[in-house]
Amino acid sequence: MSPSETPAPTADATPETAIPEKRDFIRQIVREDLASGKHAAIRTRFPPEPNGYLHIGHAKAICLDFGIAAEFGGRCNLRFDDTNPAKEDPEFVAAIQDDVRWLGFDWASLRHASDYFGVYYLAAQKLIRDGKAFVCDLSADEVRAYRGSLTEPGRNSPYRERSVEENLDLFARMRAGEFADGARTLRAKIDMASGNINLRDPALYRIKHVEHQNTGNEWPIYPMYDFAHALGDSIEGITHSLCTLEFEDHRPLYDWCVDNVDLAGNPELLAPLEKHGLPKEAAKPRQIEFSRLNINYTVMSKRKLTQLVAENLVEGWDDPRMYTLQGLRRRGYTPAALRLLVDRVGISKQNSVIDFSVLEGCLREDLDASAPRRMAVIEPLKFVLTNLPEGHEESLTFSNHPKDESQGERQVPFSRELWIEREDFAEVPPKGWKRLVPGGEVRLRGAGIARVDEVVKNEAGEIVELRGWLDPESRPAMEGANRKVKGTIHWVSARHAVAAEIRLYDRLFSVEKPDDESEGKTYRDYLNPESKKTVQGWIEPAAAQAAPEQSFQFERTGYFVADRRDHTVDKPVFNRSVTLRDTWAAG
Ligand code: ATP
Ligand code: MG
Repeated sequence: MSPSETPAPTADATPETAIPEKRDFIRQIVREDLASGKHAAIRTRFPPEPNGYLHIGHAKAICLDFGIAAEFGGRCNLRFDDTNPAKEDPEFVAAIQDDVRWLGFDWASLRHASDYFGVYYLAAQKLIRDGKAFVCDLSADEVRAYRGSLTEPGRNSPYRERSVEENLDLFARMRAGEFADGARTLRAKIDMASGNINLRDPALYRIKHVEHQNTGNEWPIYPMYDFAHALGDSIEGITHSLCTLEFEDHRPLYDWCVDNVDLAGNPELLAPLEKHGLPKEAAKPRQIEFSRLNINYTVMSKRKLTQLVAENLVEGWDDPRMYTLQGLRRRGYTPAALRLLVDRVGISKQNSVIDFSVLEGCLREDLDASAPRRMAVIEPLKFVLTNLPEGHEESLTFSNHPKDESQGERQVPFSRELWIEREDFAEVPPKGWKRLVPGGEVRLRGAGIARVDEVVKNEAGEIVELRGWLDPESRPAMEGANRKVKGTIHWVSARHAVAAEIRLYDRLFSVEKPDDESEGKTYRDYLNPESKKTVQGWIEPAAAQAAPEQSFQFERTGYFVADRRDHTVDKPVFNRSVTLRDTWAAG
């Protein structure tokens, strides 16, 4: 490459390249652990439960788990926490993998908590033999009554002092499927008086006669989250187990499970991994909590997102108004924009709510830099340039991006009859109006200066057409091409334009806190009735040629993406990803 050549920006050139090295508290811990030699290399994992689609909050965890591993030369696993088969589905498993890859990450190893069921079972037997776990016959209600409260200690279960032999026998019979769901649990024997309720003899296993997507009917018992999660991390040699703040109170139980099972010191417990071809290594992980991503105007729990779909309040999981990654993707959000959001928000232990405009700002920033420009008319009004001959036709050269020459140029057809935006004409202009008025002039972007001479109305008095004159001296390359006029508007040639379905999306909720359930309301009461409007617009031919998921800035209108499901070259469908400016700003 000669010195005058600069490398072309890659397709993935993102604004985040400008962000300095990240120095949040988790990365500081990782740096110190590597510097002190505590770890030669780090390992992280992203552990979703496959009981729904990932949402934008998960993007934060993904960027952190995978991002840190990548930055520090470590490895990050994707682990499906599939310990609750009743709610889990292979559909979610596939979508989650798709989402992680789409965000730009890949896993060192794909794991399932269900790969470890054999290990968990041996680990539970070890705890029983060590006198640290017992089979309890209390019902769920009774367990609750025995548990105590934040201010009162709990009481020991009457089954707590069962002998090791009896416990081993009962646990084996739980595993053999002899007992009904809920009849018994295996509980850790810790401390019913602990100030941390999670340590009051928590359940480690429950009976559930439910078929599992991976293990079928092999297991009528399933491990509880804290037990499975702690041991899963240990099995994978996770060094830094990153999770959200609500798990802070679970950390003592997490550590209890890791320490008391001690997989590293009892490698025989790892024997069942052989069946899955998995390495038999184990280490002591450290759990570190960070604050969740919260964004106003959204709901962000799988349960509520599931309800929105189930109750047909949106059109499926990937409805472009949904805050699932699939929805955001279909809306035209880019991986770079979401990664930028996560970087901007930062990592801390401080809970906060991010304003929706920050999310939209990240998308604008990415698309402003990357999206080619096109012209499209959303709400059309015919404008006839009467001084051009009938059948007049020409091809104008437009650059695809004002700040990025590497995006090249395209041809835009121009002719006597144009579509312009209805709102670019006013018979009686408000103060400061810069667009078309009767007798007034405006620049037709890239084509010349035009004037309106006649306003044609129908019997109802509605404007149906404008007729006017194109100044021949103002055409491109003519001497008057740079003559000053107040406004510039976009247009498309009526004869060449392609009809497009344009879906004008806006925020799904019209209030900042749709989760607010005071006054007996639910988020269903806060749905924005204007969140989707479908119109038929006209787009220039080069826009119709878009590949599904390709984004454009439609000049003066907003950023739009060719719908990844419905768009075809013959029947274009575009989704509005975000307007050019924030229309929701407090004011
Ligand atoms: P939800 O509560 O929305 O249903 P979840 O926490 O149950 O989500 P999991 O599948 O268990 O979903 O989450 C996988 C990982 O993603 C966990 O480590 C969790 O801490 C993290 N995560 C979930 N929601 C957020 C969020 N809003 N911000 C950051 N991380 C999140
Ligand atoms: Mg969960």
